[in-house]
Amino acid sequence: MIRLDELPEDIQARVQTTRERVALLHGELPANSLVVWTAGNVSERVEGTNLFVIKPSGVRYDELSAHTMVVCTLDGKKIEDGTPASLSPSSDTAAHAYVYRHMPQVGGVVHTHSTYATAFAAVHRPIPCVLTMMGDEFGGEIPVGPFAIIGDDSIGRGIVETLKESRSPAVLMANHGPFTIGKNAEAAVKAAVMVEEVARTVAAAEQLGTVVPVAQEHIDALYDRYQNVYGQH
Ligand SMILES: [Zn+2]
Repeated sequence: MIRLDELPEDIQARVQTTRERVALLHGELPANSLVVWTAGNVSERVEGTNLFVIKPSGVRYDELSAHTMVVCTLDGKKIEDGTPASLSPSSDTAAHAYVYRHMPQVGGVVHTHSTYATAFAAVHRPIPCVLTMMGDEFGGEIPVGPFAIIGDDSIGRGIVETLKESRSPAVLMANHGPFTIGKNAEAAVKAAVMVEEVARTVAAAEQLGTVVPVAQEHIDALYDRYQNVYGQH
């Protein structure tokens, strides 16, 4: 098994800063009301390695710190990372690992069961692109992924197959909830916050009347300007 303390010092240092970043970013999930109890998780690839850092399973948010963040290889196996053997990686680790293996441009993955986004997932409905901010951030509708349960690669495969067909950094896994990706963990957390925000707004709009789609040409212009002029991705 790979031992963290036997890796080159520069890699150990990179693991450490990634752990600090991922621990801090976890605070954004409860702060933005995206999670309850121990649900939800953030991970980040350790740049230039075959490792990523993810939340430990079943630990409460106020108990998370840099040294309880678990380090895994890209096949989802925990390395000898200095955490207690009882601290296992998040139960969603296989899905995160699958995304990192199949989408080399992705550096961060987030999963929550945030209420409104998950409500769309419960009815298998994509979130239609009816807001300019959706054009900016998602480049179109936010798609629904297949129904899949924990146990093999089917969640990861569903995420990758859906997102490869879309400009959206978020997918609503059917009957489950949102998974988001980004160039790093911060970008994936931002997408998780934004997907809940637009889901809530669209759900409110649908109570008021018929939502009006943004024309494709405008979506393209919004997306291009926001992604390129602002250099977000
Ligand atoms: Zn879940």
